[in-house]
Amino acid sequence: MESFIKESNFFKGNNPEDIAAKYGTPVYVYNEDILRDRMRRVSRIITKYEFHSNYSIKANTNINILKIALSEGLYTDAMSIGEMRMLLDAGFPAEKIFFVSNNVSREEMQFAIDNNILVSIDSLSQLEQFGEINRGGKCAVRINPGVGAGHHEKVVTAGKKTKFAIAEEDIDKIFDIASKYDLTIAGINQHVGSLFMDPEPFLQAVKNFLRIAMKFKNLEFIDFGGGYGIPYHKLDDEQEFPMDSFKKDFELLIDEFVKDYGYAPLFKTEPGRYCVAESGVILGRVHATKQNSGVKYIGTDIGMNVLVRPSMYDSWHDIEFMRDNEIVKRENLTEQTVTGNICESGDILAKNRMLPAVKEGDLAIVLDAGAYGYAMASSYNTRPRPAEVLITSNGEVKCIRRAETYEDIMRLFDC
Ligand SMILES: *Cc1c(COP(=O)(O)O)cnc(C)c1O
Repeated sequence: MESFIKESNFFKGNNPEDIAAKYGTPVYVYNEDILRDRMRRVSRIITKYEFHSNYSIKANTNINILKIALSEGLYTDAMSIGEMRMLLDAGFPAEKIFFVSNNVSREEMQFAIDNNILVSIDSLSQLEQFGEINRGGKCAVRINPGVGAGHHEKVVTAGKKTKFAIAEEDIDKIFDIASKYDLTIAGINQHVGSLFMDPEPFLQAVKNFLRIAMKFKNLEFIDFGGGYGIPYHKLDDEQEFPMDSFKKDFELLIDEFVKDYGYAPLFKTEPGRYCVAESGVILGRVHATKQNSGVKYIGTDIGMNVLVRPSMYDSWHDIEFMRDNEIVKRENLTEQTVTGNICESGDILAKNRMLPAVKEGDLAIVLDAGAYGYAMASSYNTRPRPAEVLITSNGEVKCIRRAETYEDIMRLFDC
C-alpha cells in the first residue's frame, strides 16, 4: 500500500502537527477503531467451543487500553505483580486474569493467591513452592512442547534452547508434586514464541500440545499461547495473518482432540502483539539530515529509548513522512538510514531503507508501534518517556498518559 496512515484514515481528520504541538514529539498515538477491531478478531479465533483470548498485556499496559480490552470482553495474561495490579485497577475481575509466572518470588505467588488469580507455574521447583504456600490449591502448569517459533532467537520461547516451562518428560513429576500437596492442575499452557505469519508451525505446536494434554485428566482448560504476527512490511504489501483459514484448521485439530478426550475443556490463546501493534504509531520529528562516508542519515527524535525493538531484535518498522499535512510520496527513493538522538551507535530505527527525500522539520511516523513500544521505553540519556494519546472512535484526541517530566525522574532521589 502507498500509505497506511492515509488508507486507514489513522488520524481521523486531526492534523498530526496539532498533536505534535500539544504533546511534543515523540508521542505515541493510538487509533481506537483499529484497536477494537483487532481485539474483536482475537475474540473469535475459535467459535465452535468455549474459548477465551487472554490479551497478554506486557505488549501494552496502558491502563486506558486495558479498559478497552475489558469492554471488548477479553481475558488477560499478567507477568508480574505490577501487571496484576494494573489489571485490577483497570476493573478486571480476578477470574479474567491469568498470572503466567516465570522465576517469581513467593511474595508474587502469594499476591496472586490472595487475589484469587490463577497462576501458571513454570518449573518443578516453583510447583513445590506453590504447594508449600497453597496446599490444596489450584494452578496451571506451563509445558514446553519441544518446538518453538518466532521472528528472532530472542523471542522463541519453546524448544530445546529456552528458559521457559516444564519439559514433557517431567510430567510425571508434576503429578507427584501435585499429589504431595493435594494440588489441582486446572489447566496447561504453552507459548511457542512470538511473531509468526505462517500458521503451520503454530498448528503443529497445537497438535503436539493436544497430544500432551491427553496425559492430564480432568483439565478445565488448555491454553495454546500467543505469538500471532502482524504485517510489519505493510508498505511492501505484506499480507495479514490468515485468521479465517487458521480458524478452520485450528478447530479441526480441536474436534479430533475432543473426540478422544471425552469432553471439551475451555480453550484459550494469549495474543499480545496482534491486539495492539497496528493500532499505535510514533509521531516524531526529523531534526537533521547528513551524509557520512556515503551513507545518508535521517536524524530524528525517535531514539531507542522510545522504541527499542529495532536495536534489540533488528525489527522492521515501516516509516512514513509528513510535510505540510501531506504524506511525503514514496518516489525517487534512495537508500537512507533513520536514527534517533541517543548516544549509542546502535540507536538505529531503520538501516539502509529505500526512502523519499526528507527535510528537517518533517514529521516521521513509525508504524505498528502499539506493541512492545511504550511498554519497553525507558528514560535512557535522561530523556523522559513520551506521552500517549488516543484518537477515539468519534475522532477526538484524548491524552491517555502524559509525558514523563524531568521532575518525575528527580522524584526518585527522594529516598
Ligand atoms: C509475551 C507472551 C505472549 C504474547 O506474545 P505475542 O507475541 O505478543 O502474541 C503470550 N504468552 C506468553 C506466556 C508470553 O510471554
